[in-house]
Amino acid sequence: MGIGDRHQKKDVEAALRRAEAAGLKVIHTGKGHRWGCVVCCPCNDKYTVVCTPQNPSEEAKDIDRFTRRHENCA
Ligand SMILES: [Zn+2]
Repeated sequence: MGIGDRHQKKDVEAALRRAEAAGLKVIHTGKGHRWGCVVCCPCNDKYTVVCTPQNPSEEAKDIDRFTRRHENCA
């Protein structure tokens, strides 16, 4: 991910960094309401990240949950 691919909500951004650090792929598509997604390549599971979550800290927790579930896949 390059600069400009940051999520505007810092809690979500931090969770995306943790996902990346765990070996998951973070893809910024930037289409409409959708910010992008977090993908676990080995099992092809995907978590969709929205641009403006109702509750950024809950969204961050969901991303962390996804990361924990998949950090041992790779
Ligand atoms: Zn997985």
